[in-house]
This record gives sequence, C-alpha cells and structure tokens, in this order.
Amino acid sequence: MVIQTMWKDRLSFSDLEGIAAEKLLSRIKTLQEMGCGLIRFAVPDSDSAEVLGNLASMVSIPLVADIHFDYKIALRCLDYPVAKIRINPGNIGPHGAKGTREKIEAVLSKAATKSRPIRIGVNAGSLPMDLRRMVNEKTIESAEALAQAAERELAIFEEFDFKDVLVSMKASSVADTIKANRLLAERTDVPLHVGVTEAGPLIAGVVRNTAALTVLLGEGIGDTIRVSLSDTPEKEVIAGREILLVVSENLNGEMPGQKPDPSLGVRIVSCPRCGRNSFDSIGFTEAWMSRLYALDKNCTVAIMGCAVNGPEEARHADLGITGTGNRVLIFRHGQLIRTIERHEADAAFEEELNRL
Ligand code: SF4
Repeated sequence: MVIQTMWKDRLSFSDLEGIAAEKLLSRIKTLQEMGCGLIRFAVPDSDSAEVLGNLASMVSIPLVADIHFDYKIALRCLDYPVAKIRINPGNIGPHGAKGTREKIEAVLSKAATKSRPIRIGVNAGSLPMDLRRMVNEKTIESAEALAQAAERELAIFEEFDFKDVLVSMKASSVADTIKANRLLAERTDVPLHVGVTEAGPLIAGVVRNTAALTVLLGEGIGDTIRVSLSDTPEKEVIAGREILLVVSENLNGEMPGQKPDPSLGVRIVSCPRCGRNSFDSIGFTEAWMSRLYALDKNCTVAIMGCAVNGPEEARHADLGITGTGNRVLIFRHGQLIRTIERHEADAAFEEELNRL
C-alpha cells in the first residue's frame, strides 16, 4: 500500500538551485520519512518537464509526472528517471483524429521500453462528452460512467499490448468514489489508485476520504491512496497514514493482500485543549507534527494541556509531555524524567525524542 501526495506549486529552474534547492530537497526528504511513497507533480509545459526530470535525478523517492493533452511532454519526461506517468490516451487527441493513434503509440512504446508504468486518471469532472451527457440525462449513474471511461482507456492500452497500467477514478462524491471503484474491481484486476478528489479543506477532506477509503480498503480495493486536501502535502500524508492505521486496526492488523505497514508506527495522542490548560497542546502538536510523523519508531507520543488528564496520558505513552500548574512535565516510558519551564519545552522534548 503506497501513500501518494501531490506537490501544490509549480516548480521552476530556480527551485533547483542554491538555498531554494536545499529547502525543496529537505521538504521532499521529510515527506518520504513521514511515509509518503510517491509524489506527483503537474507537468503543464516543456519547462516543467525539464525541471521535474532534473529533480527526479536528485531524490530517491519516486516522482510521478501528471500530464494532460501534450504527448510530447510525456515523451520528454520519459527521458528522465521519472517513476510513473499519469496521462489518459483519451485526452492525447480526439479518438479517430489524424495522428492521435501515432501519438498514443509513441508514448506507450517509450514507456514500455523504459519499463515505466502509466496511470489512467479518470475524473468525474472531465468525463468523455457522451458519458457526461448520459449522466446529465440520468440514463447512467456517475459511478458507472467513471468505470466505463476507465474501461475505454484500458481498451486502448490493451490494443497496444501495454500492461504496466493502473487506474484511478476520482469523484468529489464519497458514494460515487466507492461505487466506481467497486465496479471496476469486479470487472478487472487492474491496480487501483483510490481517493476522493477535490475533497475540500482539511476537515471536510479528511472526513470524506476516510469515509470512502475505510470502505474500499476494508474490501481489499486499492493499491495506492491519495487523500486530496486543500492543504499541504504533509497533511495529506498524515491523513493517509492515519486512515491506513484505522483500516489496519479494523482488520486486526492486516489488510487483504498487504502486509501491515511498519511506517505506521508513531501514534500521537494529544488533548483538544480547554480553558484549564497551562500548556498549549494544540500549538505544540502542530509545531512537532511533521517531525513526529517522520520518526522511524514504533511509539506513542502524548501531548497534553494540564494536570487533569495530562500526567496519566503522558505516563502511558513512550514519550509524554504535559502542562501542570506553571511547570511542564516530561515522561518517558512511564517515568517522570523532567520538570521544566515552558520555554524549555521544545529543547527538552527534542532531547528526549532523540533518546527514544
Ligand atoms: Fe483540557 Fe487538560 Fe483535558 Fe487538555 S488535558 S482537554 S487542557 S482538561
């Protein structure tokens, strides 16, 4: 099971130089340490293809080129160590139009020669005209239209005997996402990239994706997940990890066909904070979240606001920090090991984290 996220900004050549490059590479490394297995980049033009191609040579995490319309961009990306291409044959050119077949063949044959997989990404917002009309006329359900659109694209790959393919069918509706993926899983054994798209800001997006993914993954449907959020890639990866953890727990530690992911090891327990707090559990959790999810450790970390529940939760964690009166307490493996001032909390927490 792989967690994918998507880079939110357009990269330029200047992002690959000097301090900008250091920041970019460090952020990508942290995403990788957090459990992200694939990062997708939009490649809208030939400059973007060059930038992504160069970036792919600088990192160890697989990068995916997301391409629409221009087959030459796909061909160029395949000259670089880009791990995967997302492109739909149906939008390389109008079906039956002069030259379309040759363009598709060029992309598929180069991808096959280079052993690069291609993802077909069908989206409810960009269905083929005839299927969209049928959905509007209510002669076909959206989920069925998504599945049929995917099957059409798969037929083209089959025609060219291209087998290294996976499919996503995305909708902003939870019900359509579940239904479309169930339909295609019944009809084919193609690997599926699953998730609710355009799912909204953090809270709405996490809720919708959790609702869809717990059902699909629980049924053994899905090989890659992406939690699409109007938020950072880090939040998408954290949401993905938490969803996998919930599904794995529901399935007693196992997902059909997959091993439990050891990278799901860190569990954060944090209190919601209330008027009794003497330690800002929200701010502290936010500040440490990416670092904690990047830990390569199987542990529980508790971040609590006051003496009401703080010491007990902190004591039960592998590492716990809590406010109590005007002091901050740090526990490690059940033992109170530090009593400090608030301004010492970050440094002390970091030291104890490194000792875990
Ligand atoms: Fe409020 Fe304290 Fe409970 Fe946090 S631990 S929610 S601050 S009572």
